[in-house]
Amino acid sequence: MSEFAPVLAIEGLHKAFGAVVATDGVTLDVRQGEIHALIGPNGAGKSTLIAQICGEQRPDRGTIRFEGCDVTASPAYRRARLGLGRSFQLTQLCPDFSVAENVLLSVEAGDGGSFDLFSNPRKNAASQEIVARWIDAVGLSDRSKAPASALSHGEKRQLEIAVAMARQPRLLLLDEPMAGMGPDESAKLTALLLGLKAQSAILLVEHDMDAVFKLADRISVLVYGRIIFTGTVAEVRGSLAVQAAYLGSEAC
Ligand code: ADP
Ligand code: MG
Repeated sequence: MSEFAPVLAIEGLHKAFGAVVATDGVTLDVRQGEIHALIGPNGAGKSTLIAQICGEQRPDRGTIRFEGCDVTASPAYRRARLGLGRSFQLTQLCPDFSVAENVLLSVEAGDGGSFDLFSNPRKNAASQEIVARWIDAVGLSDRSKAPASALSHGEKRQLEIAVAMARQPRLLLLDEPMAGMGPDESAKLTALLLGLKAQSAILLVEHDMDAVFKLADRISVLVYGRIIFTGTVAEVRGSLAVQAAYLGSEAC
């Protein structure tokens, strides 16, 4: 695959809830080494799109290809095995487990689902190394023994990313990771995500436009379930259609 071959290619994705059309023929791709941001007003269909990509929801029509495989009908766990990572919701961290234990659970789960700390010392040493590497990468080394419940909001988000990355995804789906963060925490997470994209392509739903403009290689703008524009940061900033539909009114 070339450097810019798509990791994810979705075509004509349609999903309605009764009379509400949440995604209306969405076509986009995410390439290797890319952060592709998805922006749009509340209710535009961003989370519904992410849910269809990760397999939590079935599209009514359209196709989802991941690394060349049609996964439209695949269950979520199979997509995860293929390398589709999703930042876990806060509730999916184990609150009483330490930072390191949460990441270890993820490494073991990605390794065939068996979780037995005492079974194979060599394998466990390798797992511990991956755990330490990701805890360090997200900046939580000095918190590795703390229970997840003791972390600040921003630290929990950092931990979620370590948990997701420990499974070595080919594509990471992030739905509003900066939500509820102050400027310092957002800046930290922005730097972290920039460092991740060499290892995993990222599809990033985010309202924080400072972060989006710093991070995105390309931006797609979703309005009423339709992509109205895809382009670089400069192209999106310069688009009158985007200004009218989104940037002028809501985000700036
Ligand atoms: P966004 O993430 O861009 O804010 P959503 O994908 O959450 O948008 O929602 C898109 C539209 O679909 C909204 O009108 C929302 O109310 C509707 N919707 C989303 N999920 C459901 C659901 N499970 N059942 C019914 N309507 C839903
Ligand atoms: Mg949403």
